[in-house]
Amino acid sequence: MDKIITITENISFTMTDSILELSYLIASVLFIVGLKMLSNPESARRGNTYAAIGMVLAIITTILFHKQDGQPIGNIGYILVAIVIGTIVGWTIAMKVKMTAMPQLVSLFNGMGGASAALISLMEFPHISAALVAEHGMMNGHVLAILLGLVIGSVSFAGSMIAFGKLDGRIGDIRSPLMRYINIGLLVIVVGFIVYIMTLGSVKIDEITYLIYILLAIALVYGIAFVMPIGGADMPVVISLLNSFTGVAAAMGGFLYNNQAMLTGGILVGSAGTILTVLMCNAMNRSLLNVIIGAFGGGGAAMVHEEGNIREITLSDAAVLLNYSQKVVIVPGYGLAVAQAQHICHDLDKLLESKGVEVKYAIHPVAGRMPGHMNVLLAEADVPYEKLIESEHINPDLPNTDVVVVIGANDVVNPAAQDDPSSPIYGMPIVNARAAKNIIVMKRGMGKGYAAIENYLFFNDKTRMLFGNAKDTLQALVAEIKEL
Ligand code: NDP
Repeated sequence: MDKIITITENISFTMTDSILELSYLIASVLFIVGLKMLSNPESARRGNTYAAIGMVLAIITTILFHKQDGQPIGNIGYILVAIVIGTIVGWTIAMKVKMTAMPQLVSLFNGMGGASAALISLMEFPHISAALVAEHGMMNGHVLAILLGLVIGSVSFAGSMIAFGKLDGRIGDIRSPLMRYINIGLLVIVVGFIVYIMTLGSVKIDEITYLIYILLAIALVYGIAFVMPIGGADMPVVISLLNSFTGVAAAMGGFLYNNQAMLTGGILVGSAGTILTVLMCNAMNRSLLNVIIGAFGGGGAAMVHEEGNIREITLSDAAVLLNYSQKVVIVPGYGLAVAQAQHICHDLDKLLESKGVEVKYAIHPVAGRMPGHMNVLLAEADVPYEKLIESEHINPDLPNTDVVVVIGANDVVNPAAQDDPSSPIYGMPIVNARAAKNIIVMKRGMGKGYAAIENYLFFNDKTRMLFGNAKDTLQALVAEIKEL
């Protein structure tokens, strides 16, 4: 009888094990397919849903079937309560957040991912198997995964919180040559500490648990100090780098728990973030090392320019100019997102096209406040994807363009990036708006952009300012063109 029970138990053990493995496999496939679909605006929403279904599947099957030393998961009640609270909070924030605060939200969520990975390491360190340590000392893959998960997760958490504050305008950049040395010093201390813990040999884990809290504190300080001096045009690179950190930290958790879904998810986020970082660096003409240890361009004291005069244009003159043009290029920027003017912007584009004007959009890689911000914004208004041309590809066409319409963009059209070695954005590729025959700039006033520097494109002889909130201005302009 006992034998029959044991056989039945074994069968059910392998059955649940197989279901778990299968569900992880399905979840991993859903993550990969979902990620692939994110590369096209038309399939992106579905891709997001597929990946979310994969995650829900992995969570449910883990709760139901995961076993540790033959024992099922305990504290299911607490876990469910935590999931419900987290879901309600996340859902409410995401539903309420304004489109313009999206970048901050992404940073916040990314930071939470890093914090979770760090917490896993904190929880697991005291439970490192005594037998493992007795046999191999601290120099083993298990301990390394815990320490790396803690450090990378903490850096990602602290860095993302600073990025959140910077994107929200609450925290300014601290730039000083000293920061570079402080950062290098902190990094050396973090690596040294990891090496120290791993070379401790055969120890009692509960006697050295305090070390993990010291490492946590140093990693948090490093995360803050690492992002603090980075600002202006380098922020997008840092944000994608922090994204990849969170992925790698989560992958360490997957390695620790031998959980394939967590491992695949983490590796996908880590590698996608790394690829995005490299692409952003290439687009911005920067090496990653330069971003991390040096500021963009000069020290921030921009050259003094002959400012000249600001010239305004009336709505009716702007309407006539656009109506009788052959080629128009729209340069969207952060202000377009602030004004939520993407739909009316597309209306203007359709109206001009119906009158035989060719309209295209110049998309700068860091326009807005998150990678791909302008693509997402314009896709929301159903602007055809083929009309969005990356700045490096549209620049050669601009001398033959009758009018460039800059809508809520500033830094990404600032000629200081080409002319002024002392400018903090010097070296950043821009949309070369000044090459066009005429330039119309729509913004509310003479407010500066994210890099907080003057833009002398606005004083160019060919530039005419059309002041006002972009949405109101565009609505009035569309009405005016319809009258012609
Ligand atoms: P900027 O932030 O340089 O400029 C936006 C301009 O929009 C402002 O000068 C403002 O002028 C105007 N504006 C704001 N609200 C409105 C409105 N309602 N109607 C009309 N105009 C408005 O934007 P860009 O897109 O040119 O550049 C992006 C900057 O952000 C770069 O420096 C980039 O490095 C940085 N960044 C980008 C990230 C990314 O991933 N894309 C992430 C982090 C930073 P005014 O107040 O006079 O209206």
